[in-house]
Amino acid sequence: KELIENSLDAASSQIIVEILNGGLDLVKVVDNGTGMESAELGLAFQRHATSKLGSDEDLDRVYTLGFRGEALPSIAAVSQIEVCTREREVNEGWAMTLDWGRIMSQGPRGCPPGTSISISNLFQNVPARRKFLKSNMAEVGRIKEVICRYAMINPRVGFQLSVDGRKVIQSSGGGESQEAIAVVFGVDVARTLMEVSPECSGGVYTLRGYISPPSLHRSNRRHIIFFVNGRWVRSRMLSVALEEAYHGLLPQGRYPLAVLDINVPYEDVDVNVHPAKQEVRFRSDRQVFVTVQRAVRN
Ligand code: ADP
Ligand code: MG
Repeated sequence: KELIENSLDAASSQIIVEILNGGLDLVKVVDNGTGMESAELGLAFQRHATSKLGSDEDLDRVYTLGFRGEALPSIAAVSQIEVCTREREVNEGWAMTLDWGRIMSQGPRGCPPGTSISISNLFQNVPARRKFLKSNMAEVGRIKEVICRYAMINPRVGFQLSVDGRKVIQSSGGGESQEAIAVVFGVDVARTLMEVSPECSGGVYTLRGYISPPSLHRSNRRHIIFFVNGRWVRSRMLSVALEEAYHGLLPQGRYPLAVLDINVPYEDVDVNVHPAKQEVRFRSDRQVFVTVQRAVRN
C-alpha cells in the first residue's frame, strides 16, 4: 500500500506490482513516475525524511498520500531491498541495495525513468512478525484489495498485479472510471451503476463516483468504497450517510454498491489520525454527512 501511494504521489501513469509467495519472498513495484535524484535516494530511507512537506503549514493541508516519511525506512528495517530510480531528464539511473536497513551498495545503473523497488525476504530478521502474518492467500487478498481500490479511483493510471507469475489484475489507465470499476466489480455491475456527478452535491464539499440503482444490492457492506480527496478511507459515518440516502429503497438487510470520492478543502480534513492513514477526521462531520446523503439521494 505504501509503495503504491509513493508511486501515485510521484505522478506515475503506470504501476506494475509483482508478488511471490504472498509477498514474503518478493514485493516488487515498478512505476514510471518522477523518480528520485541520485543524491536523495539514500535520504529516502532515513526516518521521517519526506519530500512532501515544504513547510510546517503544509501539515494542515496534506494533498499527497504520504507525508510522514516512515514507510521506506520501516520496510527497509525488516527486508532486503533493491531499488533503482531515474529522473526523466537524467541519462542514467541510480541503484542501491539495502539489507535490514543498512545500505550495502550503490552506484549508477541504466534503467527507464521512474522507480523500481524490490522487497525480498520480508520479516526474515523478525521471525515473530513472520509468524503473525495471515495465510498466503489472505495476504494476497489484501494486496489485491489495495490495488483494486487505487485502480478504481485512478482511472488514468494503468495498474498491473501478478501473483506468483500469473497476471491477476490489469487496468488500462485509459481514463474511463467505469472501465476501472469493471476490473473490480465486473463489467455487468459496472455498466449498471449510476454516476454521481459533482453537481449533485450543491455545496462546498462535492461527491463524485458511482452508486448502484435500488434494484442492485448486496448482503454486506463490502462493496461500499469511500475515498476522501483520492485517499481510500474506512468510515462508518460515510457508510451510514450513504445507507440513509437509500432509506426505503432497498429490502431489509441489503446494502448498496458504491465507489465514491468526497472532495473537501485540504484544510478541512485531518489525515494524520491513523497509523495507516485509513481514517480521517473532518472539521465538520455534519457537513460531510449531509453532502453524501444529499448527493446520493439526488
Ligand atoms: P513519504 O511518502 O511519507 O514522504 P516514504 O518513506 O514513503 O515517505 O518515502 C520517502 C520519500 O522517498 C518520499 O517523500 C519521496 O520523496 C521518495 N519516494 C519514495 N518512493 C518514491 C517513488 N516511487 N517515486 C519517487 N519518489 C519516491
Ligand atoms: Mg510514502
